[in-house]
Amino acid sequence: GEWVPTDVNALCGEYLRLAYQTLRATDETFKAELKTDLEPGLGRVLAVPGDLGRVLLNLLGNAFYAVRQRQLTGELGYQPTVGVATKPVGQQVEIRVTDNGMGISEDLQQKIFQPFFTTKPPGEGTGLGLSLSYNIVTQGHGGRLHVESRPGQGSTFLIQLPLRKPVI
Ligand code: ADP
Ligand code: MG
Repeated sequence: GEWVPTDVNALCGEYLRLAYQTLRATDETFKAELKTDLEPGLGRVLAVPGDLGRVLLNLLGNAFYAVRQRQLTGELGYQPTVGVATKPVGQQVEIRVTDNGMGISEDLQQKIFQPFFTTKPPGEGTGLGLSLSYNIVTQGHGGRLHVESRPGQGSTFLIQLPLRKPVI
């Protein structure tokens, strides 16, 4: 893909809706609250938008899967929520993809970025989404990808991207 000045906020908002619609296409009864907290003055980031979009779609797909799984437990008063947020941090842009799904144990947090690691049944996951995303963010964009999660409360995946194209 080509490096272009990318409107990260627009990409985040569009992919949040796209991921939600994709899930709702298979289950019209599913409803989630969508939250966006996009820093208006972010400006454009030099990135490969197709690759960055693939990362967002992977993270958001996982987030919607997680909130749906939690909802299927029938927990009383549970409101599925998926959010995306952006903010500048020094010479970097930070993108957070947050869900209030079942969360990820510390044990699993060590493993989820490995290729083919999945907890999903066959046909629902390949286990490649996070390893691919990790490579796109780190090797592709010179950034970082981290997970923060509290089991039972939800997860946040944090992308940090340099504002400028890295020399790799
Ligand atoms: P896949 O989605 O095909 O399983 P991924 O590489 O995208 O593969 O994710 C690997 C595993 O990480 C998932 O199977 C799941 O166990 C865990 N995971 C990823 N994102 C989340 C999330 N938002 N909430 C809970 N678990 C997650
Ligand atoms: Mg996935």
